[in-house]
Amino acid sequence: MNANLVAIFLSRHAGHEAKPALLWNGETVCTFGELPAAIGRYRAALAQLGVKQGDRVMLKAENSPHFALTYLAVLASGATFVPLNPAYTPSEVALLVEDADPVLLVHSAATAVPPDDGVIARATLEADGSGSLTRLAEGLEPDVSVAEMAETDLAAILFTSGTTGRPKGAMLMHRNLSSNVAALHEAWRFSDADSILHTLPLFHAHGLFVALHLGLYSAATVHLLGRFDAAKAVALLPTVSVFMGVPTFYTRLLDREDFTREATAGIRLFVCGSAPLLPSVFATFEERTGQRILERYGMTEAVMITSNLYEQDGRIAGTVGYPLPGVELRVVGGAGRQELPPGEVGEVEIRGPNLCAGYWRRPEATAEAIGPDGFFVTGDTGFRDASGRLTIAGRSKDLIISGGFNIYPAELEMVLAEVAGVTDVAIIGVPHPDFGEAVVAVVTAERPDMDPALIEAVAAEKLARFKQPKAIRIVPEFPRNAMGKVLKAELRQQFAGLFS
Ligand code: AMP
Repeated sequence: MNANLVAIFLSRHAGHEAKPALLWNGETVCTFGELPAAIGRYRAALAQLGVKQGDRVMLKAENSPHFALTYLAVLASGATFVPLNPAYTPSEVALLVEDADPVLLVHSAATAVPPDDGVIARATLEADGSGSLTRLAEGLEPDVSVAEMAETDLAAILFTSGTTGRPKGAMLMHRNLSSNVAALHEAWRFSDADSILHTLPLFHAHGLFVALHLGLYSAATVHLLGRFDAAKAVALLPTVSVFMGVPTFYTRLLDREDFTREATAGIRLFVCGSAPLLPSVFATFEERTGQRILERYGMTEAVMITSNLYEQDGRIAGTVGYPLPGVELRVVGGAGRQELPPGEVGEVEIRGPNLCAGYWRRPEATAEAIGPDGFFVTGDTGFRDASGRLTIAGRSKDLIISGGFNIYPAELEMVLAEVAGVTDVAIIGVPHPDFGEAVVAVVTAERPDMDPALIEAVAAEKLARFKQPKAIRIVPEFPRNAMGKVLKAELRQQFAGLFS
């Protein structure tokens, strides 16, 4: 059987020919019946530009239907898809081009790319202008064949969003993507009766491998937007059955008065992930809509790893649930990295069909991350309860050691986010002459003149003394990456001199 993910998707569309596969801002791009030819035209265009099986094609663009079709055409060609964050600067792109070594760089006309040195073929994505991939595709006979691929052949290389260090390319195989979408389809009870409001960036695993894949695998319509816009989302919610987002999307929805129980009545599933969802947001959401957000945990290297259970009472605030079927997870610690008992915080390691083949052209980084027994060190810390339910405590790099005590930022963040008037909290460790590191709470608040003493009082009441922040700083907003993750390295730099 052809393990090409596109072949798997197309094999599941029989009987749905007339149904829209993709909507773009409300307009039908193509039906499931038209999808093979829509992909096939891009496939023919890629071939004209010299793309062959095994090559890499890089795409730097914002969301659009052209993006989704180009992606599927790259896979159908047997080539490897390498999406880039459109926010990258030309010098960042140049480094990644050198690393990924693509035969073709496709980009939206508006995004910055390095000057064309003639070495790598170039095309723009949008239909207008010369040198456009879409325009070329529109004039060609579709090639509706799908290259024969093995399960372990590469489908995509995604550079990890890199909140720290130089980006590494995670090598995702067809098997990783097909096994994960099948597991999510089951776990989240998808069917052809669903339709998904998709406002996540397609250059990231969450938008590409979760939201888009679930639609294609389930023969469910994907309603794609260029980006998240709370007003648009509220207007469109009555037309779909599933919404997926990162925590900031949910906060912004809750900021709107028209985000009500009525507006969400037709939605059967709200999913959240990519960064921790504050229990206060989970609770406000439930009060407002009568529904619980289903939080899941994943990462570029392993797509989705754990999920809360589908039933409303299986969705618990502050936890990320249980490993998906087929995924093994352990929490380890100590010198021998032995498995820890329930309740003890350690490093999260995973193994399973979802785990990538390693990092592109980085054998040392791969060996460091994936041990001889095949378990991958996620870099996240957490603990399991007696039933195996996982709670994420932070990134191991975020771990603060103050006066010899280990402090897990996520625990403090959850406590301090509950303080009235506080909207979000980032806990960081900064150098301290006496303690080695000192805990600093960087806070955003409803009022910029909020009295930090209110936060201090709650910390004193609820946290052991060694965990209490040595300083509290109220800021207008946090630096964040495209997925809404707080860039703690920037905060650490900003507050590095507090105690020196
Ligand atoms: P990325 O590779 O950009 O998807 O980032 C993956 C990282 O995001 C993980 O290693 C976690 O640190 C974080 N992450 C993803 N989902 C969650 C979640 N539900 N709660 C806390 N952190 C999360």
